[in-house]
Amino acid sequence: MEVIEKIKEMQERAEKLRLSGETIAFVPTMGFFHEGHLELMRVGRKAGSKLVISIFVNPIQFGPSEDFERYPRDMEGDLQKAKEVGVDIVFMPSVDEMYPEGFQTKVAVRDLTQHLCGLSRPGHFDGVTTVVSKLFNIVKPHVAIFGQKDYQQLTVISRMVMDLNMDIKIIGVPTVREPDGLAMSSRNTYLGKEERESALCLVKSLELAQNLLDTGEDNPMMIKERIEELIREYPYTEIDYVSVCDPDTLDELESISDRALVALAVRVGSARLIDNRIITKKEKRGE
Ligand code: AMP
Repeated sequence: MEVIEKIKEMQERAEKLRLSGETIAFVPTMGFFHEGHLELMRVGRKAGSKLVISIFVNPIQFGPSEDFERYPRDMEGDLQKAKEVGVDIVFMPSVDEMYPEGFQTKVAVRDLTQHLCGLSRPGHFDGVTTVVSKLFNIVKPHVAIFGQKDYQQLTVISRMVMDLNMDIKIIGVPTVREPDGLAMSSRNTYLGKEERESALCLVKSLELAQNLLDTGEDNPMMIKERIEELIREYPYTEIDYVSVCDPDTLDELESISDRALVALAVRVGSARLIDNRIITKKEKRGE
């Protein structure tokens, strides 16, 4: 496994791979790997003949009061895991080289970012689309893999790729969960023992939403209310948002005709956790 730190070197390596007929699959990450990341890499392994991953905690996607400084890092452990999964190249640029003095360009997707996390984390998605554009220009992938755990991120990046005619196929991978249902996240490491129990309120909320729809409750307002009630029963929690929205536009729904995205962000202790699920009416599931 090669480790590349310099942008120019990565670009030259990518160009060489392309010229020799390889297909580059790319998994961008912020490191501190768990099974979710590794699953993306396994998908990437099959999607291309060469697998490149990046590890870069991107400062411009964190707000001033967010957790950039204390975001968990484990370079040695990450490199070991990447090697075991069969990664060919790990790209790990420095912040200084990615954002040198005078940097002033931003890539922004308009409407899709005016919902969900875009509202509670102003500027976050501009930071994401800007860094992903830069990484795409450096790694030159044919295909890039993202997790559905960050549903809005996947939607925003797919839109950006389409709008800017980037010749890259985007693959979304279903959320990998702990045995009890908690979505895996690097931020789960912030949770104390009791908070870890409370963190189950996210997946329980998503199950509740599907159960409500199954029993005929298709009013998004009612579903949101029931979810908020459920979350309030768990200690150490504070709701950021609960949304029942259109899975494509992310616009809030007034009624559910066949399916809806249920997305939520909840603070549990000092961790801000997100999760989502598409709920579908029984008669549309083809059971
Ligand atoms: P991060 O390092 O948190 O920026 O995540 C890097 C990539 O891994 C993103 O595409 C995430 O959506 C994806 N990811 C994070 N957690 C999970 C998970 N539990 N299941 C699947 N993909 C995930």
